[in-house]
Amino acid sequence: MKLIPKITLIACLLLTLFPKSNKAWGFYAHQQINRLAVFCLPQEMFGFYKSHIDFISEHAVDPDKRRYLVEGEGVKHFIDIDYYEKALPFDTIPRLYHEAVIKFSKDTLHTYGIVPWNIQWMLKSLTQAFLEKNKANILKYSAEIGHYIGDAHVPLHATSNYNGQQTNQHGIHGFFESRLPELFSNQYDFFLGQATYIAKPNDAAWEAVEGSFSCLDSVFWFERYLHENYLDQAKYVMEWKGSTLQKMYSKEFSEAYHLKLQGMVERRMQAATICIASFWYTAWVNAGQPNLLDLSVSVPLDSSLFEKFPTILPTTIIGRPEY
Ligand SMILES: [Zn+2]
Repeated sequence: MKLIPKITLIACLLLTLFPKSNKAWGFYAHQQINRLAVFCLPQEMFGFYKSHIDFISEHAVDPDKRRYLVEGEGVKHFIDIDYYEKALPFDTIPRLYHEAVIKFSKDTLHTYGIVPWNIQWMLKSLTQAFLEKNKANILKYSAEIGHYIGDAHVPLHATSNYNGQQTNQHGIHGFFESRLPELFSNQYDFFLGQATYIAKPNDAAWEAVEGSFSCLDSVFWFERYLHENYLDQAKYVMEWKGSTLQKMYSKEFSEAYHLKLQGMVERRMQAATICIASFWYTAWVNAGQPNLLDLSVSVPLDSSLFEKFPTILPTTIIGRPEY
């Protein structure tokens, strides 16, 4: 028993030295979603994507790695839709970027998040890459649009209370998008059928955000309900993640929360996965359905795409504070 305070002290010290990093959907979930999306592609695309599935999966997290390093990157991952209107924000904010700029100003949009519009811009870049038959850019933009579509499907990327900081539920962001998928996504059904053509990509991106926003009441309410019925000792455990000791939600608490959410995490991951495949397919169709097997042997992969990121965050962090 005498050891407990010492262990707690060491744990606190380690937590200070190795703060929990912020990883939207969690690196694990982002990589898994991008990987699974490949299996939703039609035959004409499947061979190319399957042969590069490791790249598509590994680089699913590049946008998160650079969000604290590159000016303007952070706001591409979320939209604080409740900033515009608490009750019916989607009736307030125009879906088209130029109309939203006129109504709220560019500065405002680029402060409170631009994820639905960024998905449109990424779709353009991916379509252009297909038109140019630029293999390197096809892979880069496929991996990265997958990231932003994944983020748009996370409820906590659609609110200013993104980490429960306004409701004393600090940590709920990582709980929902990292801890739960890591514990339970191996039980999920990812036989999702085939990608479909998206005639209105802007609407599809906004529907992802609306779907996320509609989950928020449950996300917050059930965590609070369970919190009131759990002692801290039962709610949290200290666990090693690689070389880092972290305060984590216990498996028991996670299971109870997951059960209360009644499949929400699975449904959001499924929706993200089929949406990503459908955006890839749409870009390819809009570019005239180029033969991907030809370009996979004729164009060398640009090694500059394998971005290198520092493992230690800079002292000056750009964007939102860490979760
Ligand atoms: Zn992100």
